[in-house]
Amino acid sequence: MSQPNRDQLRPGRRDCLRWGLACGACSVLGATERTAAQDVPDAEGLPGSATQGIVRHEAMFWEKMAENRVRCRLCPRECIVPDGERGTCGIRENHQGQYQTLVYGAVCTSGIDPIEKKPLFHYLPGTTAYSVATAGCNFECRFCQNWQISQFRPEQVKSSEVPPQRLVELCKSKEARTIAFTYSEPTVFYEYMHDSAALARSQGIGSVMISNGYIQEEPLRRLCRHLTAVKIDFKGFSETFYAETCSGHLKPVLATMETLKEIGIWLELVVLIIPTLNDGPDEIKQMCRWVVSHLGPDVPMHFSRFQPTYRLTNLPQTPVATLERCRQIALDTGVRYVYLGNVPSHEAENTFCHGCHTELIHRVGYQVRNNRLQNGQCPQCQAKIPGIWSLDQALSFKPRVETANPSTTEPPNPT
Ligand code: SF4
Repeated sequence: MSQPNRDQLRPGRRDCLRWGLACGACSVLGATERTAAQDVPDAEGLPGSATQGIVRHEAMFWEKMAENRVRCRLCPRECIVPDGERGTCGIRENHQGQYQTLVYGAVCTSGIDPIEKKPLFHYLPGTTAYSVATAGCNFECRFCQNWQISQFRPEQVKSSEVPPQRLVELCKSKEARTIAFTYSEPTVFYEYMHDSAALARSQGIGSVMISNGYIQEEPLRRLCRHLTAVKIDFKGFSETFYAETCSGHLKPVLATMETLKEIGIWLELVVLIIPTLNDGPDEIKQMCRWVVSHLGPDVPMHFSRFQPTYRLTNLPQTPVATLERCRQIALDTGVRYVYLGNVPSHEAENTFCHGCHTELIHRVGYQVRNNRLQNGQCPQCQAKIPGIWSLDQALSFKPRVETANPSTTEPPNPT
């Protein structure tokens, strides 16, 4: 099936999210006919029992308002939702004055991925992650690779119910070290991620969030008690780009990264370089300067190659020379670990010591071919290489600064 044009999809999706009704524009992209997402495993063969797409559970981080309305406090949108309606993401619903998530364990895609595919290059290299997603996102990026799950409501995608305990069992059975909450936007399935990560950690499994960073500070801090690493998609360095291309704002994403730095959790950044939209040398330089001055030189940056997709099929793929220029700017600015993504076999897939430039980890695509690190150190000059190099190290992480007492409604953790 061909991809819908912008006018076919946008009003249909937004209207459906708002009114909770199926409409023509969306139903043609419904569960039975939607095309396979580019970056996610097919929904066929999901573990767990089939659902009708919706698994209700009390939501965290919201407050009651007059006339049975609620205000969602999970992401910076702060949707005010009347009784019977949903927030902008389409994943959270006001049910008679009580706010609910609709996707607690409603997994629409899952698979075993190399951790390098997330990409996390300084986190347990050569291990695998059990990756899961539900439908939904709080952004609408015009270049989304996974729009077939991120831009639809839960009842429009195939899914199976995989409660946290079952997810952890699956992860163990596949001998994955980590659960990755990924593919769509994990913030919108926060409750499932939070409870699963807490359970996983108690049973010796790490959890990573692969996110756009559009989340409020309090839920972020509470979540990081249970996570072991975070990757943020740093989509650009201008409000205009975020507003026009992602339907979001830059400032809250910067705030999220600063909070993650303060918490001390392992963090890596990915910047998808899109020709003409966010590839200007000045913008890249400003972005890298911000990273070095606010996050420090040890946060790895991955500049990733854009492929025409979704609403941006009119643009070409990113020239490798543009990516190399971005990498050089980052290195010149002081970022110590800079990688290129979606350019298999490029030298910039490898990790080099920031002290003596010895090659430490050799990669081909998502595969680690050689890892010379010794206890997290360069074997040549003994420099300590920033990162998480053992599961024990990952599981021993504790946030540097704990959150204040929660002021919003939240359910107890699952047993
Ligand atoms: S998580 Fe969803 S419902 Fe909540 S504020 Fe964000 S977009 Fe709105």
